[in-house]
Amino acid sequence: MHRRHLLNLILASAAFVLPFGVSATQIRNARLWHSDDKLRLVFDLSGPVQYKTFSLSAPERLIIDLSSANLSGDFSQLALSNTVIRSIRSGPFGQGDTRIVLDLSGPVQLASFLLPPQDGQGHRLVLDLKTAVPLQMAAAPEAAIDKAHPKRDIIVVVDPGHGGKDPGAVGAKGEREKDVVLSIAQLLAKRLKREKGFDVKLVRNDDFFVPLRKRVEIARKHNADMFISVHADAAPRLTASGASVYCLSEGGATSATARFMAQRENGADLLGATSLLNLKDKDPMLAGVILDMSMNATLAASLQLGSTVLGSLAGITTLHQKRVEQAGFAVLKSPDVPSILVETGFISNARDSQRLVTARHQQAVADGLFEGLQRYFQKNPPVNSYIAWQQEQKKSQA
Ligand SMILES: [Zn+2]
Repeated sequence: MHRRHLLNLILASAAFVLPFGVSATQIRNARLWHSDDKLRLVFDLSGPVQYKTFSLSAPERLIIDLSSANLSGDFSQLALSNTVIRSIRSGPFGQGDTRIVLDLSGPVQLASFLLPPQDGQGHRLVLDLKTAVPLQMAAAPEAAIDKAHPKRDIIVVVDPGHGGKDPGAVGAKGEREKDVVLSIAQLLAKRLKREKGFDVKLVRNDDFFVPLRKRVEIARKHNADMFISVHADAAPRLTASGASVYCLSEGGATSATARFMAQRENGADLLGATSLLNLKDKDPMLAGVILDMSMNATLAASLQLGSTVLGSLAGITTLHQKRVEQAGFAVLKSPDVPSILVETGFISNARDSQRLVTARHQQAVADGLFEGLQRYFQKNPPVNSYIAWQQEQKKSQA
């Protein structure tokens, strides 16, 4: 609920305003059926529409562009489990058009057509998706699912801020942010390693300096499902205290996209982003839109994780801000890995600082972070993950 709402907000704020006199077609609703050999997706429309479709691979996606169309419904109620569609994203595109992206688990054959109003139904756009592999596979007996399921670990990259020549914030009694956050990060890593279904990498496991860009690069190299950067602030106002959670701001995301694209034009390697998103052979305009959408989706996931983590921390420490804050931290600018930055407290505040250096409080904060991550992934397990498999087992037993 929360995530969808956020995503809608993010997408709506980027919408283009249509010139006067042009009335856009509303995409009111989507419905789904499956039969043995195909999946039918129907969009209910307020009127006729011009559309085109194309597909992209690695990962497989089907893109539907509808001219002069707005989205007034939402697709969150569609039962996508056991279908070839993993998720549906949508957003404004070009001058008042709407782009819908179906993330697919494999290649499909598409037949699409428009239907005029009849039998109490309005205008409709119908998409028939035939999978290369029969759909029964998806509804196979448990034994078959069990064999097919990779049950992979969720990879969390934990980034202890600062290090080496960069001490971060320093407290009145010489407490150093870099030491506090290394301890907390190591405790979090230890906790994650103990939990089946999780794997964890630390950006640094000792007192050395890592440049900001290198930190993001490490997350990408490990195909992280989540990147969490751990800090402890200083503030000019010494009474400032408590924990905060940050995500990338929308403005930050937009300018990062712009920077990524500019670098691409200049032939830079983009820290591997081009190959990950497979944009090399796409036209730059299209690549920009896809990158932007994937960044928006990542941001929504980051915000959701952020608020879950904030909720867990609330029982352990006071909160500096009751909601997830957004800012343009360079360390969070990864378009394909949901990322949060946690300020565990204020080194500059005497009381916070006193607690932050104790093993007991460090453990409590690490446990809080773990609990937040775990709750988030229980709610949003990546397909193919052990946790997703575990939940499928529970469902099939229910
Ligand atoms: Zn810091």
